[in-house]
Amino acid sequence: MNAYSSSILKPIKNYLKGLLRTNFRGIPSSACSPVQCFICGVADVQKIHAEGRLSVVQCRRCGLTYYTPQPSPEALSHYYTSTDKSSYIASRPEWKWQMTPEWEAQIQHELASLETHWRLHHSPTAPIRFLELGSAYGYVLYVARQRGWDVTGIEPGTAQVEITRKVVGTPVYNCTITEAAPLLSPASYDIIYMSHVLEHTLNPLEVIQTAYQLARPGAILVIYVPNGNGLQARHSFIEWEWSGFPDHLYFFGPNSLQMMLTQAGFIPERLWSCLGHSKHEPLFSLIRERLHLHPEEALDSIVDVLGQQCLLSDLRVIARKPGG
Ligand SMILES: [Zn+2]
Repeated sequence: MNAYSSSILKPIKNYLKGLLRTNFRGIPSSACSPVQCFICGVADVQKIHAEGRLSVVQCRRCGLTYYTPQPSPEALSHYYTSTDKSSYIASRPEWKWQMTPEWEAQIQHELASLETHWRLHHSPTAPIRFLELGSAYGYVLYVARQRGWDVTGIEPGTAQVEITRKVVGTPVYNCTITEAAPLLSPASYDIIYMSHVLEHTLNPLEVIQTAYQLARPGAILVIYVPNGNGLQARHSFIEWEWSGFPDHLYFFGPNSLQMMLTQAGFIPERLWSCLGHSKHEPLFSLIRERLHLHPEEALDSIVDVLGQQCLLSDLRVIARKPGG
């Protein structure tokens, strides 16, 4: 076979392999259905990446990036509760709840900043009512409680909930946000917080609408998500550390995130990006190498500019429910 025929045949072979594949990275393909942009209600998209029938597409209207097809709720739930998937969490013998002083100080600083933002419109007479959606092991709840806040968590992962209850001692609902909502008082929370949760959900708009119902008028909603419009995602989506299907299904950019919040009734007030939860920013390392930036302080101004321009990998927004 000559080089020409090989270069032609390789993509065809890959495509056929994808067609014959019976599951998409652990999810049976029979349990997956095509989706369109839930913000715009259409499938006006450009394809970013494809593995057979599993594609990453970007909405031409709002910029939302997403996988299609997507798993059924049952298939996704099975994926998260399967042995393979749970092995990385608290079932590992070496895993233990630990909060380093640096980490605790970082969360304290973050929550103090949120409280300042919240106080722009409120003079509290009672402890701040704080609700974390997707509270994982309870690190943020722990610090929030130290601040004297009245805290509640919602977390579908059973192991995480057991650890939070045991170590942190805070009330946590072991279910999804939609399941917990009827058990909670509507319009009663001052700050609703979700860090790296929305990208895991099959219906992010429903989650935001639920948060709206639970938020008191004037409450703030805080969201952290992987930045689907960041430099790293644009440079090489599939090599980006946050791109993995089916853990992550939707990738918001500044525009799509604000549009979704507005659809649900929230008013976006502050939007920025940071390195945050992103452990690696390969493109950022490349910039550092190419520009021969030393010492590290020389990077700070670049990080600041990229962060303000919403080009780093962790996208953050503070939005407010009208009224109050
Ligand atoms: Zn769209």
